[in-house]
Amino acid sequence: MDEYYKIVAFILAGLVGLCVGSFLNVVIYRVPAGMRLDKPDSHCPQCKYKLRWYDNIPVLSYIILGGKCRSCKQKIPFRYTAVEILNMLAWLVSVWMFWEESIVFAVVHALSSSVLICVAFIDLEHMLVFDRFVVILAALGVVAVFFDPNYGWLSHLIGGAVGFGFFYGIHALFYYGLKKDALGGGDIKLAAAAGVLLGWQCLLLSILLASVSASVILVIWSKKRMQAEEETEEGQEGEENPLEFPFAPFLCAGFFLALSFGAPIIRAYLGLLGL
Ligand SMILES: [Zn+2]
Repeated sequence: MDEYYKIVAFILAGLVGLCVGSFLNVVIYRVPAGMRLDKPDSHCPQCKYKLRWYDNIPVLSYIILGGKCRSCKQKIPFRYTAVEILNMLAWLVSVWMFWEESIVFAVVHALSSSVLICVAFIDLEHMLVFDRFVVILAALGVVAVFFDPNYGWLSHLIGGAVGFGFFYGIHALFYYGLKKDALGGGDIKLAAAAGVLLGWQCLLLSILLASVSASVILVIWSKKRMQAEEETEEGQEGEENPLEFPFAPFLCAGFFLALSFGAPIIRAYLGLLGL
């Protein structure tokens, strides 16, 4: 019987996850533009064609329409479908990892993942972390304090403090020491909220994952940029581009991975150390 319920939960999580993913696209597009979420109805940004319900079915419509607007044939960015699929996968992980231990925590995990997807994609495009997402994440964190099957309330409390302290520390070091803005205020608040959500053990793991992956990408990215600059070299001195690099997508990926698989990873690691 339990198996049966879990299969139903998987199917529901997948389908609802896709639909919520579709809504996340609206959020990712409209929040930075300062638009309302409920009006106007979804339309093609190019020709203003109003999407019918059958143009709006997650993933399926994209395939049927061949990735183009029904009316003007303008290409629909693949990002929309990617967000839907990512959210579906995240919600499946929620059921997979937490359904049996705590349904409430599975829901917290699902909603947090959706918020993290919004934060990551908006930061990728606009280099901005909006406070409203941080507030939602912190609220979910407060629920997590009571329902986390792995770590107790103290871990979450310390997590919030570590998240804020660690990131504010880095910010202060660069800002007062080197007169450079290394981390945005948005990243600091985001890390504090995530600390409450994750607990300090998983927070540290997520920071490790985010820093390593960001460093790798940053090295590749700056090499490519240096090559591109060498090719168009005309001795433009003094016009050094500031190193603008969105860090929140890496943080969000790290938070998601640690929230999903952190506890078993940390247990296995401590086991290896014989602790
Ligand atoms: Zn169109």
